[in-house]
Amino acid sequence: VRWPVDQTHAPDLRSWVESANDSTTDFPIQNLPFCVFKSGENDRPRVGTGIGAQILDLDGCRRAGLLDEPALSADSLGPVMALPPDARSALRLRLSEILSREVWRAAAEPLLIPAAQVMLCLPVDIGDYTDFYASIFHATNVGRLFRPDNPLLPNYKYVPIGYHGRASSVVASGTHVRRPWGQRKDPNAETPGFAPSRSLDYELEVGFFIGRGNRLGEVIPVREAQEHIFGLCLLNDWSARDIQAWEYQPLGPFLAKSFASSVSPWVVTMEALAPYRVPAFQRAEGDPSPLPYLTSDDENAAGGIDLTLEVYLCSKLMHESGIEPMRVSRGNLRSLYWTIGQMVAHHTSNGCNLRTGDLLGTGTISGPDRTECGCLLEIALRVPEPLRLPSGETRTFLEDGDEVVMRGCCRKNGFVTIGFGECRGVVLPAAV
Ligand code: MN
Repeated sequence: VRWPVDQTHAPDLRSWVESANDSTTDFPIQNLPFCVFKSGENDRPRVGTGIGAQILDLDGCRRAGLLDEPALSADSLGPVMALPPDARSALRLRLSEILSREVWRAAAEPLLIPAAQVMLCLPVDIGDYTDFYASIFHATNVGRLFRPDNPLLPNYKYVPIGYHGRASSVVASGTHVRRPWGQRKDPNAETPGFAPSRSLDYELEVGFFIGRGNRLGEVIPVREAQEHIFGLCLLNDWSARDIQAWEYQPLGPFLAKSFASSVSPWVVTMEALAPYRVPAFQRAEGDPSPLPYLTSDDENAAGGIDLTLEVYLCSKLMHESGIEPMRVSRGNLRSLYWTIGQMVAHHTSNGCNLRTGDLLGTGTISGPDRTECGCLLEIALRVPEPLRLPSGETRTFLEDGDEVVMRGCCRKNGFVTIGFGECRGVVLPAAV
């Protein structure tokens, strides 16, 4: 099943929720992203859908008889993510009807809550988190640091590279991130020391949540892989480069990454993304074709997603002076060498089971241009001068008090633009 373009994507569809018809909203009625929210610290988490500046309480809708999907009563999105494709599509169609037709307004309007008044939680209890390395531009830029003449290792164009990350430290947008301590060794020093990281970085990534999983020992073929993805979020894979440089050989990232990874609280569904599908990345002449288990006609034709991504930086001084965050990178999901379907197929190709709510990350998303570096390490490698902020400050890596904000949106002629909300995090000083 490719998620079809249907009446829920019609550009002339309007909601009776006025803020959803504002041309600048991330959440017009064509989007309908899911979230989990609480009204207060001690409130029970509830499942909702974003509509303009409001959240529709979906468990409230169920109790009011507007929706009859039992999965909506849970305090996490897990049961909704596990729904079969037909039930997912039916739920989207019903939400679109409720929020567009005046006849449902009287019943549904009391179940709206301004998004600014709630706490947005992690969308699901994440069992496992895997991070890939799917941007060939990122891999080439970083590889050049270690191997100037031969930046890409010979396996890159054959095998989607990834590592098993840490699910326990995935946090929702808005959670402050403390600068980690760790082992680092200065190039000129004889021995390492243990101290707060001096080269804290962000990584611009997209996360995708597994919907229906697979049983241990079974594979998800590439032609079915997209059906097993529930939806996408923004992901900041915070990274301590000095810790990483000392620890990564021979087994890869460990404590340089596991102190925190931030996700945006909104999950934009695969159904919502249907109009913005594009062909898989066009490989350069002479590059090998993916092996057969990573190839299908559907994946070639529409495995990519045209999703523009941006990173903004705001220092403490900028914040105190009322200066707007500065855009430091741009990127697009369609520039990835591997599609998210190929990543799912590869992950399960040895019989490894993915479970509902598992989070997979694309890896840092960079493009060929110098303005498309998805992390500060790459900006430092590719741009000769340090990054100059509008406050007059400069940055090579993140300083305490810096806030990193990620945004994303899908645009297409003839369709409404949909957005992903924000993934934010402020860097706190290291513990003393
Ligand atoms: Mn990463």
